[in-house]
Amino acid sequence: MKVLGASIALLVTAGALAAVQSPAAAEPQPPKAPTRTGTGGGIATVDPYASQVGQSVLKQGGNAVDAAVAAAAALGVTEPFSAGIGGGGYFVFYNAKTKRVHTIDGRETAPARMRANAFVDPATGKPYPFTPDLVTSGVSVGVPGTPATWDKALRQWGTWSLPRALRPATKLARNGFVVDKTFRQQTIDNRERFKTFTSTRNTFLRINGRNGVPRIGERFRNPNLARTYELLARKGVRELYRGDLAREIARATRFPPRSGLTDLPVPVGRMMRTDLEKYRALNRPPTHSTYRGHDVYGMRPSSSGGTTVAEALNILEQFDLGEMPQAAALHHYLEASALAFADRGRYVGDPAFTSVPLTALLSDAYGAERACALDPEQAATKPVAAGDATPGDGPCPEQAAGRAAPDTENVETTNLTVTDKWGNVVEYTLTIEQTGGSGIVVPGRGFLLNNELTDFSTVYDPADPNRIQPGKRPRSSMSPTIVVKDGRPVLALGSPGGSTIITTVLQTLVNRLDLGMTLPQALAAPRASQRNTADVTAEPAFIEAWQGALAPFGHSLVPAGDAFTSAAEIGAATAIEIGPGGVLTVVAEPTRRGGGSARVVKPN
Ligand code: GLU
Repeated sequence: MKVLGASIALLVTAGALAAVQSPAAAEPQPPKAPTRTGTGGGIATVDPYASQVGQSVLKQGGNAVDAAVAAAAALGVTEPFSAGIGGGGYFVFYNAKTKRVHTIDGRETAPARMRANAFVDPATGKPYPFTPDLVTSGVSVGVPGTPATWDKALRQWGTWSLPRALRPATKLARNGFVVDKTFRQQTIDNRERFKTFTSTRNTFLRINGRNGVPRIGERFRNPNLARTYELLARKGVRELYRGDLAREIARATRFPPRSGLTDLPVPVGRMMRTDLEKYRALNRPPTHSTYRGHDVYGMRPSSSGGTTVAEALNILEQFDLGEMPQAAALHHYLEASALAFADRGRYVGDPAFTSVPLTALLSDAYGAERACALDPEQAATKPVAAGDATPGDGPCPEQAAGRAAPDTENVETTNLTVTDKWGNVVEYTLTIEQTGGSGIVVPGRGFLLNNELTDFSTVYDPADPNRIQPGKRPRSSMSPTIVVKDGRPVLALGSPGGSTIITTVLQTLVNRLDLGMTLPQALAAPRASQRNTADVTAEPAFIEAWQGALAPFGHSLVPAGDAFTSAAEIGAATAIEIGPGGVLTVVAEPTRRGGGSARVVKPN
């Protein structure tokens, strides 16, 4: 990104002091540990404050749903560049009473007036460059689904009211939190985008400070967000979908509050207040498949997470990974992932607009059919072709050549895992798409709007299930997953990471269920991601450990990372395992994104 010179005059507006960072040294962050074992409930998030909030809800007798919403609201404060009320997500819930899994699709939705050619620059007739044009734009903002998700989850399964669940996060926004390395780095990575909008600059950049970036150790307050949470507590989420806030959100996408300090193009959107009024978070049945005696539940389309993880597992189930040398098992993991990604590209989109062959994608029979294309000794030439998901092709149909699908998904989001003393489990992934979302803060409201509509295919193809259509939800990769064995939940996990979410969840499941790793080891292990592309993207530690052993199979490993992320990391997962006697192993990342925070109600 182009950074403008410091000579540009500072534009200080009336709201300039909306967010004040105190220079005085603040009390330290709550203590954090990546793994905790114990009983009575537990929570893992990427953030020590959010985990602390979730744990305190559990200790006060709230259930997993109450804790998940309260912790998610806290993440909206401390992880505002990854998630918040300007975004969307997917909520998966295991109900201990009914022993059933339910999900809420809280995905952002395209405005009714979004055109098929929305990603084409009218000035040139050519597609907008993805970066910087599309990512920092009003046109990529979808109608937020997160507030409706919280409301729906609490009404259906919670024991706390929304005002009560929002209280700890409101306090956190008002009193502030201590800036850590990740928050500072994310601000630095987004400085040019944040400077582009007065509202964002006023919220996230120090107006008088050096380079506008908060220092590590200082306290960051967001009083505007505190007031917005209070408004939602007072008036309900109706306010955001029908009230003044709805009008302001829509307006910010059509008339982004430009500062004049940068020359980013910022294509505008066409969202209206009625788009917010029409928005609904949707109850959907989960995806269900089986893997080596486990029931695996995930998210249906509009996310591709549930079907793609399930299909890859169904392919892998044809092979005995546990009996192979680890390099061979990893080869199988990478190849199964590529095959499942080919089908994801061909078949998966918002089910209100495209008919997704769910039965095939989730079935063992189709997994066996796809497994024919997996050569145990040799990596296939990528991209591999999608399979024929219509039933009855016989066991090993002919393979065709595949079509490359550009992957423009960005790689940051946030995820949390919670369980309570009753045995309810929540796996929840929420996002504003890329780190910093669209870059646009709703003026005076303290939260960023998403740029989730960049998850639509950027090149319009009428045969593509993920093409832009008005009122549609762009295809996601979020993969909150709950694993049940003999009718009891035993494992829940999820991760951020754009399309690498799918491979992170898949690789972690393989590590745990096939390769004999403990859950902390399964999460910590170096990651690689094969999304049906010529090269496998991988973390440096994976390349170092496996390059030699995977080369004979024909895999080429390249470092992960993109223009927006400073670290070559894949994912930032959280997970909980429920062992015999209800003993919990609650796990967050030991190092990725600065390390996450696991907490239990009664530590062992
Ligand atoms: N937009 C992504 C998705 O829905 C999530 C964003 C991320 O993880 O970076 O799959």
